[in-house]
Amino acid sequence: MSSQYDLHMHSTISDGTLEIDALVSMVREAGVKTMALTDHDSVAGIEQAQRACQQNQINFIPGVEISVTWNGQVIHILGLNIDHKNKILNDGLNKLLEFRERRAEMIASRLARVGITNALEGAKRHAKGRLIGRMHFARFLVEEGICTDLRAVFKRYLTKGNPGHVKGEWSSLEEAVSWITQSGGLACIAHPGRYRLTATRLRALIEEFIAAGGVAMEVVSATHSADEIQKMTMFCEKHQLFASAGSDYHGPENRWIHPGKIAPVPAQLNPVWEHHAWPIAQF
Ligand code: AMP
Ligand code: MN
Ligand code: MN
Ligand code: MN
Repeated sequence: MSSQYDLHMHSTISDGTLEIDALVSMVREAGVKTMALTDHDSVAGIEQAQRACQQNQINFIPGVEISVTWNGQVIHILGLNIDHKNKILNDGLNKLLEFRERRAEMIASRLARVGITNALEGAKRHAKGRLIGRMHFARFLVEEGICTDLRAVFKRYLTKGNPGHVKGEWSSLEEAVSWITQSGGLACIAHPGRYRLTATRLRALIEEFIAAGGVAMEVVSATHSADEIQKMTMFCEKHQLFASAGSDYHGPENRWIHPGKIAPVPAQLNPVWEHHAWPIAQF
């Protein structure tokens, strides 16, 4: 189970643990020929990744994973083949980065109420002065011995109904898709299986996404089960979306997820790399 395309990955620019050069080396060793860097709400790593991929003879797709609040729920939208210098895109992402800063302070003060002190400093240390996210808090709490693993931190502290939870104030679905489209990119619903939507809600999401200009869905994700891939294949086909494939790699700490280690795109679907706006492969 190995794919030459891996269109969903994170570096230390957001909440991955590998610096860009180390990430690209991993990608090359995994035999991936085309990769997208899709850090959360940031395009700050694009130029370095572009250079590293050129040196390693990997086709590079500039990407981003935008945080969206849709009907009170967090949804992630991938932008693939975006122009990372586009002003509309950058203005939009900057609003999300500002929210991340405010949210980090709120998370820390909520954690302080349950006796977890210095969480902002701890999380910032893990974020290394770059974008701050819940994963950085999670790493701090594990380091402090408050939880044994990241999953437990999310379950006990950082998700709805728990002491460190802060409601997202992300972009709207329409905004995210329009920033991507206006910067020349293809908008793609990230890991649709993760949202636990009913069929009715999933259809509503897809219809609104298409109405906003979205064209693809990540049918194949390392975070999807075989059943979820099958289910998303049906939705993808029915709504005539292009299919994307990505590992959502965050670094070697997660022993189950590796670059390129994902199922093939089901044969009946049109892969997003066959979209007319997809760049021509160099390597
Ligand atoms: P944020 O965008 O800062 O709210 O953080 C979302 C990120 O946290 C996701 O992209 C994942 O990397 C991570 N995450 C979310 N839920 C979990 C979980 N249950 N276990 C481990 N990591 C998670
Ligand atoms: Mn993440
Ligand atoms: Mn995501
Ligand atoms: Mn991701």
